[in-house]
Amino acid sequence: LRLANDLNENEILAWLCEENPENLDKLWQYADKVRKEYVGDDVFLRGLIEISNMCSRNCAYCGIRAGNSKTNRYKMQVDEIIKSAHDAKRFGYGTVVLQSGEDRSTNAFEIAEIVRQIKHETGLAVTLSLGERPFEDYKLWKEAGADRYLLRFETSDPDLFKLIHPSFGSTVSDRFRNLKDLKKLGFEVGSGVMVGIPGQSYETLAHDIWLFGNMELEMVGIGPYISHPETPLGNGEVVLSIPENQVSNSELMTYKAIALTRITCPDINIPATTALATLNKNTGRELGLERGANVVMPNVTPSKYRVLYELYPDKACLNETADECNLCLSARIKSIGRTIGVGSGTSRAMKNRG
Ligand code: SF4
Repeated sequence: LRLANDLNENEILAWLCEENPENLDKLWQYADKVRKEYVGDDVFLRGLIEISNMCSRNCAYCGIRAGNSKTNRYKMQVDEIIKSAHDAKRFGYGTVVLQSGEDRSTNAFEIAEIVRQIKHETGLAVTLSLGERPFEDYKLWKEAGADRYLLRFETSDPDLFKLIHPSFGSTVSDRFRNLKDLKKLGFEVGSGVMVGIPGQSYETLAHDIWLFGNMELEMVGIGPYISHPETPLGNGEVVLSIPENQVSNSELMTYKAIALTRITCPDINIPATTALATLNKNTGRELGLERGANVVMPNVTPSKYRVLYELYPDKACLNETADECNLCLSARIKSIGRTIGVGSGTSRAMKNRG
């Protein structure tokens, strides 16, 4: 098996199927070498603020889907969001990420105002992760000063996507179009997928990874699918046909996807995700960072809200305070000989594209 930045889809597929530990060691080492060469030893910290767990949609896998009546809903007040952004600044983070469910009742102007206030008061880079929205909303937020937008396409298999991500009213989801619009508007754009969602074949995941490079993304987040009992996929209400070559939602498979993404998209930002840390609370993040990742997202959401943002059960870092997350993650980064990035941590990919 070849290791090079121009791996084709079949080679990516062969690596995803590889199980020989010695060969996998070569994969990890190569991904780590590419990471060091293209984006260096800095690990950038993004302060995650989960501003609301309200959502209008009903994705089959997601714990905060509209249909989950067992979730207590919250929406952070503007002053609470601004305070969390100041906390992020105090910890030395260069970016805040404002994330919520895809809540159609959220007023786009309100978000624009929050972005403006954060930029004005803290100077931090602002990333938004608020789901599929009309072009005009994205434009408004860009004009307000938002720097980046995250929208995972979750799977490139259109049939599987439809099954796990039902349409909203008459609006047919087209996240690839949304991502193009975001790029057109000048956002630094991140996307990503889940590893091991029922119905995902190895071929599909290989295609997803190949696409990342092809779409010229600046960030790719990859996490394992973790079943939530209060969802149609988790409680058996929706049964997807499992292909013979179903991808496992294991920790190992997630590392393979991260390493292959680093190799095929050398200059992008790749987070070691909380979902990965949930599968291996002791060393999941560190291993992610040693197998291609260069970003972590410490949570700065106030604890009382954080426990309610339950996308999947037993989420890592649910009960820690923002201060505890900061200390813990900084220590983990230093323990593997890496340095904490200073500044906004714009991806090399974005800089290279000018
Ligand atoms: S995945 Fe996003 S859009 Fe879908 S239900 Fe969850 S929060 Fe809402």
